[in-house]
Amino acid sequence: MLFLFHDTQLFLTPAADGTWLPLAAASFTPVADGLAFDLPAPDGTPCRAARVVDAALPGAQLWDLRTAHAVLPPALYALATKAAELLHWDAHTRHCPVCGTRLVRQTDISKRCPACGEEQWPQLQTAVLVLVERGDEVLLVQSRSFRHDFYGLVAGFVETGESLEDCVRREVREETGLEISPPRYVASQPWPFPIQLMVGFRARYAAGTLRLQDEELRKGGWFTPATLPTLPSPPSLARKLIDMWLQERCEAEM
Ligand SMILES: [Zn+2]
Repeated sequence: MLFLFHDTQLFLTPAADGTWLPLAAASFTPVADGLAFDLPAPDGTPCRAARVVDAALPGAQLWDLRTAHAVLPPALYALATKAAELLHWDAHTRHCPVCGTRLVRQTDISKRCPACGEEQWPQLQTAVLVLVERGDEVLLVQSRSFRHDFYGLVAGFVETGESLEDCVRREVREETGLEISPPRYVASQPWPFPIQLMVGFRARYAAGTLRLQDEELRKGGWFTPATLPTLPSPPSLARKLIDMWLQERCEAEM
């Protein structure tokens, strides 16, 4: 099975059952100097990922990874995520960051500098997001980076010298002016845009008045299940956390 990417888009071919699948075989032109990667196939089928020059391949269509989530079987979507992250890492790690010499492949997922010995492995950017609740309300915000008019959770990148919990408290304080109870870990998720690990938490409102950080947020506020605005679409972790909260609220009312 071939996970072939043109830029950040993945070639998929329609299956008889309405889903879409990576190509079983294809004739393609890999990008110059790009590595190909073997992927751990769920059922033993050999899987390989590569970035290709071709903008069109017979019988296949290019899909954005966000929308591919709706049509790819979950195990294959997980592989596509891994493929996208490895290919991004390969394209952005061509030279040694210490001495500038061209890196060479060392293992399947590492490179080494032949001049100074520096090793490079894929580096994840770690980001947290947190669902803050107050009674039957949830805190939702709209980041200025969102391309569409929906609300998500307070989120941000972990900084150097910071624990995940410190990061959660800092982001909530910076973005909303609020203090929260100790954050509780809920779930995490790889997020291949381009190479992130999202770590999801929940916390309860503790103190403060909502004061949105203007540079980062367009709008935000407290919402009940009855007043929810447009939410982020699956497969985002924010949506999963909001859906879990919503499910609990509905069960509490029954
Ligand atoms: Zn070097």
